[in-house]
Order: sequence, then C-alpha cells, then structure tokens
Amino acid sequence: MRCQPRQLNCRSLSGKNLSYAGRIQLIKTVILGIQTYWTSNYILPIRVLEKIDMLCSAFLWGSKIHLVSWIEVCKDKKIGGLGLFSSKLWNYAAAIKMLWMIHSKKDLLWIKWVHGNYSKQQEIWQVQPRKSDSWMQRQILRVRDLVLRRFGNVYNLHRIIANCHNNGTMKISSVYNAISQSSATVPWAKTVWGGLHYPKHSMILWLATLSKLPTKDRLCRMCILENNQCVLCADSVSHQESRNHLFFECQFSSYVWNNLMAWLKYSWRSCCWNQVLRWYSNNLRGLGFRKKLKRMMLSGAVYWIWKERNQRIFQQKARSPDQLIKEIKISLLSKVLNEDVPEYLKEEIAKL
Ligand SMILES: [Zn+2]
Repeated sequence: MRCQPRQLNCRSLSGKNLSYAGRIQLIKTVILGIQTYWTSNYILPIRVLEKIDMLCSAFLWGSKIHLVSWIEVCKDKKIGGLGLFSSKLWNYAAAIKMLWMIHSKKDLLWIKWVHGNYSKQQEIWQVQPRKSDSWMQRQILRVRDLVLRRFGNVYNLHRIIANCHNNGTMKISSVYNAISQSSATVPWAKTVWGGLHYPKHSMILWLATLSKLPTKDRLCRMCILENNQCVLCADSVSHQESRNHLFFECQFSSYVWNNLMAWLKYSWRSCCWNQVLRWYSNNLRGLGFRKKLKRMMLSGAVYWIWKERNQRIFQQKARSPDQLIKEIKISLLSKVLNEDVPEYLKEEIAKL
C-alpha cells in the first residue's frame, strides 16, 4: 500500500516560533533552493510559480495580513526590498538561458535532440510553432516571443546576455538582475542592512522604515482595533501609537534613545524619526567601525522598543526604560565583542 504524502501548506509550515529573519533564511535556502533546481532544467507552469510565490509570502508573514507585498519583498536590498527572488521572474530568466543554450548549440544531448527534431536547420529565433510540438517546446517558443517583444530584437538580447557571462558561464542570477524592473536606489539601505546588525533587528528596522509595522494607528485604520493608545506611555498622557511616536517621540522611547545617543557620544541629537533616518542616511553610510556601531545601535533600539511594546500588549510584562537600555547595551556589546574589532577601539569599547 502506498503512503499518501502529507499535504504541504502554509499552515503545516507556519514557523510561528521563528523570527522574520529565520523565515527568510528558510525561504532562501530550502523553498526557493528546490525551485531553483527545477527551473534550471524545466519551464514550470505559471500557476505553479504563482502558488510558490503565494506560499512563500504566507510563510514569511505568518498571518492573513501580509505587511509588505511580495513584489516589494523580491526587490534588491539596494532598492528597498528584502533581496528574495520571484519564482515567476526566475523561471523566465532560466528560460532565457535555455534559449541561449539552444541558440549557441551547446554540446548537450537534449539540445542536439531539439535541433534534430524541431529547429532542423533554422535558428531558434525563426522557428515557427507547430501543432505537433511538445508542451515544453511550445513554452520555449512562447518565452522566445516574450523576450524578443521585450528587448526589440535579437541583437539587443545578444548585448544584454553578453553582460551576463562570468568566466564563460551564463549565470541565471545575472539574467534575473538584467530583466528585473529597475528602480531608484534608496538612501537608507546601508542604515538598515549594513555592518554589524543582527538580522532580526534589521528586519524590524526595514519594516519601520517602510512604515509597515502593524502599529495601532494602522490597525485602527484597517478596523482591526479600536483603541490606539500607546502602551509605553499609557500611565502618563495618552498618545496615539504610530511609527513616529514609537520611534522616538514617546516619553519612554525618547528617554531610551537619548540615553543611547549619549552613551555613544553623538554630537548630533534628535528624537524625530524622519530627521534621524535622514541623518543616518547622509552621515553614517561608511564602512568605519564607529559608523557600523552607530547603525547597529539604531537597529537595536528600534527592535527592543518594538519588542517591549509587544510584550506589554501580549504578555502583560513591562520593563522600565533603564532595564531596556541595559538589555540593548548588552546585546550590542555581546555582538561587537565577537567581531574582529580594531585594537585601538577595544579600550574605547571596554569603557562603555
Ligand atoms: Zn508613547
């Protein structure tokens, strides 16, 4: 008797105990890794690819609310995404590579078979589809027509593909980048991703930068919540919880942020989110260790304040701002001390 395979869906792979950063690693290494293998050899049906993208998105967000659209997630980090890839677009890039292998008559058995049975003496760019063609041949010709329509003619395609070779090998990832929609780079990419950040801190900072964290003001606008009061300063004056209030206009978080800025001896101070992000994007983009440390502090502060807010709402646990500052400092120092710190900075860090 044959065993029925267990149905794989986003519920059985909910990953609720994983952080967003952990889920991204699983998507990259396992789910999209398997898909990459298959698409390097076959053109998969569009519905299968759309289903893969849908399942990956559901797994990443773990709820019905997808905080950021999959299209945005699939953009490069430099242009504001998470650097994952779209199954649909990857398959398209893999199909272009297949077309190119047929065009250049690579010494492979399946390519000889395609030339012997379908192309005959014609170039792949001139072959007309026939009723007797296999599904795979029809898909290759369909992709060919899409590619030629997109790039205008074969010569333009030659030029683009010539830039996708590395040591004589054509890389699907290079083709993918060449056909991806180009957008302007974002000034805050280094602030969010650069340096010594914990991946989970970067992820929360990325969501905060895009204003996509599920803060109470957004949940009220979606009619999910009615009470939009900030839980960090609820005992004093009632304020509405928004991204800008949490980081760092709130009485609680401004105390934490000012204390951390004093700790790292900032010459410049602000608790206004837009000013902080602009200042970081303009002044802290370099590779120097101190700049990395300051970028790390912003991601750490945003992560820990968001975590404190969640603990107060979901676990009814509250810490004082001084306790939170201590936690942030410990987490930063424990990461920094495991890095290759320049000798002249070790004494400075030891004094912190
Ligand atoms: Zn507040």
